[in-house]
Amino acid sequence: MSDVFIDKDYIEGLLVQAKQVDDATINASLDKAERFEGLNHREIAALLVSDNPEHLKRIFSIAGKIKQHIYGNRIVMFAPLYVSDYCVNRCAYCSYNCGHKFGRSKLTQDEVREEVRLLEAMGHKRIALEAGEHDKECPIDYILECMHTIYDMKFENGEIRRINVNIAATTVENYRKLKEVGIGTYILFQETYHQPTYEKVHLGGPKRDYAYHLTAFDRAQEAGIDDVGGGVLFGLADPYFEVLGLMIHNEHLEERFNVGFHTISVPRLCPAEGINIADFPHLVDDATFEKIVAIIRLAVPFTGMLLSTRENHAMRSKLLKIGISQISAGSSTEVGGYAKRERQEQTNPQFFVSDERTALDIITELMDDGYIPSFCTACYRKGRTGDRFMSLAKSGQIKNVCLPNALTTLCEYSIDYGNELFKKKANAAIKREIPGISNQKIRALTELNVEKIHQGGRDFYI
Ligand code: SAM
Repeated sequence: MSDVFIDKDYIEGLLVQAKQVDDATINASLDKAERFEGLNHREIAALLVSDNPEHLKRIFSIAGKIKQHIYGNRIVMFAPLYVSDYCVNRCAYCSYNCGHKFGRSKLTQDEVREEVRLLEAMGHKRIALEAGEHDKECPIDYILECMHTIYDMKFENGEIRRINVNIAATTVENYRKLKEVGIGTYILFQETYHQPTYEKVHLGGPKRDYAYHLTAFDRAQEAGIDDVGGGVLFGLADPYFEVLGLMIHNEHLEERFNVGFHTISVPRLCPAEGINIADFPHLVDDATFEKIVAIIRLAVPFTGMLLSTRENHAMRSKLLKIGISQISAGSSTEVGGYAKRERQEQTNPQFFVSDERTALDIITELMDDGYIPSFCTACYRKGRTGDRFMSLAKSGQIKNVCLPNALTTLCEYSIDYGNELFKKKANAAIKREIPGISNQKIRALTELNVEKIHQGGRDFYI
C-alpha cells in the first residue's frame, strides 16, 4: 500500500457520481444518520452535493438531534497557548511563513508560567499548545519542557489538567516522548487533502511533504497516542473535497487502529499579517460552512467537534446547535499574547480572531443560552482514550460520566472565577441538570461532590 491513502481522482469521481444518487437513497442515509449510525464517505458525498432544500432541512434537524442526544447541552471549554512562532515552512496562508520578516520569539519557562497563570485565572483547565515548526529553535525537547512546566504548576484554584498539542508532523520517537509527558489529544490539521493544492500552498520546508504530513496520525498511533484530532483549513480547496478527505482519513484510522479521530476541527481561513485573503479562490461562505458542520455531525456522531475564535459570535452560536461540542474562549493567537493583553501592549497574532469577548463573557452567554460550560478533563486522566472512549460514547454511558463531570467543573468555575450573578446562574443550572443523571448512584455522588466543592474541595471527577 502506498503511504498516500487519499486518492484525488477517486474523491473527484465520488463527487460526480453523487449527483446521480436518488432521493430514496439519500433519505435512507438520513434515516441511518438519525439512528446515530454515522455515514460512509459515499453517503456523505451524496449529502454534500444535494441542493434539495428538503434534504438540507433534514440534515440540520438530524444534526441538532444528534448534538442534543449525544452531547446534551454541555460545551467543553479550552484555550490555545502559543509557545513559539519560529518556523521553517513557507505556508502561503500563514503569517509564520519563514519568508515573513518579524521579530520571532519563543517563551522562556518563566514566560510559559506567566501565560499559564493568566489562562488559569480565566478558569481554563484544558489548553491547546501551539508552535511553528523549527527543529533548532523549537525542538521536541523544548515542547516537552513547556509541558512539564505547565503540568507542574499548581494554583489555589486548580491547574491545567490537560494539554492538547498542535505541533508539526514528527517521528514515532517524538510522539512517544509526547505520550510519556502526558499529551491529551495530538492535533494536526491536514490543511488540504487536495495534493496539488497542498503542494501549491506549501511552498517550502518539511511541511511541503504531503505524504509525511498525511501519515502523521499513523505514527502518533504507533507511538501510543490514541486521541488524535484532525481538521482542514477551509478556504484552500473545494470544501466538499476536503470533507470527503477528512472522512476517508477517519475511515483509514478506524481500519488500522480501530479508532478514528477523537476530534475534528473546522477552521476557516482568516485574515493574517502578510496574507491577502482574496488570493484564495475557495473561501467558504457561511451557508456552505453550516451545511458542512451539520454533515460532519451526521457522519461521525461520536467525534467531538472543535470551533475556535476564528468564527464570530453569531456563527459560533449557530454551530453550537448543530454539531460543535468544544469551543475556545478568551483566546490569544500569539506567543506571549496573554501577558501582552494584560499589559495592554500592541499584539501581532498568527491570525486575527473574530470573537474577542472575554472568557467570562462567552461562558456567561453559554449559560444564558441554556448550555453547561464544562471544564472537564476526566476521560484522559481516567484512561478513557482512543477506542475505550469511543465504546463508552457509543454505548450511551457517556451521559452518566460527562454530565456529572460538567456539573462539578462548572460548580468549581462559578465559585473560583464567577461573579455573584454567574454563581447564581450556575447554581440554578446545576440544580436543574442533576435530576437528568439517570444512574441513581452517580446522581447521588454528583450531589455529594457539588456539596464538597462548596465546602472547599476541588477536582472531583468520575
Ligand atoms: N505548526 C503546526 C503545523 O505545521 O501543523 C501547527 C501550528 S499552527 C500554529 C496551527 C494552525 O493554524 C495551522 O494548522 C493552520 O491550519 C492554522 N492557520 C494558519 N494560518 C491561518 C489563517 N490565516 N487563518 C486561519 N487559520 C490559520
